[in-house]
Amino acid sequence: MTREDQRQQIFQIIALRDIDRLRSQASQLIDSVPRVLGARHRDSAGAQGQLEAARQKLQGFRAHLKSLELDLAEREAAILKANANLMSAKTNQEYSLLVAEIARKREEKGKVEEAILEQFETIKQGEALVKTAEAHVTDAESEYKAFEQRARNEWAGHQEELKKHEERREQIRRAIAPAVLKIYDRALAAHGEGVAAVELNVCQGCFSNITPNDRSRLISGLELVTCRSCQRILYLPEVLQASPAP
Ligand SMILES: [Zn+2]
Repeated sequence: MTREDQRQQIFQIIALRDIDRLRSQASQLIDSVPRVLGARHRDSAGAQGQLEAARQKLQGFRAHLKSLELDLAEREAAILKANANLMSAKTNQEYSLLVAEIARKREEKGKVEEAILEQFETIKQGEALVKTAEAHVTDAESEYKAFEQRARNEWAGHQEELKKHEERREQIRRAIAPAVLKIYDRALAAHGEGVAAVELNVCQGCFSNITPNDRSRLISGLELVTCRSCQRILYLPEVLQASPAP
């Protein structure tokens, strides 16, 4: 292999690294879409939960009204009955006791009537709360739908990009010797990157020092050099920059 061949190979390996980075970014974005959508969906489900709670409260208010109305009807019946008893009172004392009892029953009935009026107000407020909660649910749903549409579009875009990256990756790999790919793939699997620059005699992948022998092999640029510590393929940025890339 000539120095120029070796140099071209390093260029291809770096191009492969760049495309692998783009692939992994696209994959991460693709994976993040369902998670983000799930979180958003839980938010809009919260509005639904508040609506359920408001509806239940209103139901409770109405049930209480019903029991007040029943109570009122019972009291009215009791007053009618007491009035009927009045006719059959045998003594004046009995009569005035019954009159006092009827007055007391009327007073209690009045209290229940007041409570019923108050309960009507409470129900009105409960209905307003339900209406507000319904509006929130509608807003949350339409907001979620718009968000979902955007997210799905983005997801499709990332898929498209990923597909392009995969195609480009295959092209680049075809230009690299299989033995070199094997080294690259092993380091990629181990560290997420298959190649590292050497700066100031230090591998920029694992930050261990390069031996003087490896350094001269890198400078001569005739063969593939890997890091003895992390096994990444090494290159000297200054050698690559010595003349412009083709
Ligand atoms: Zn290293």
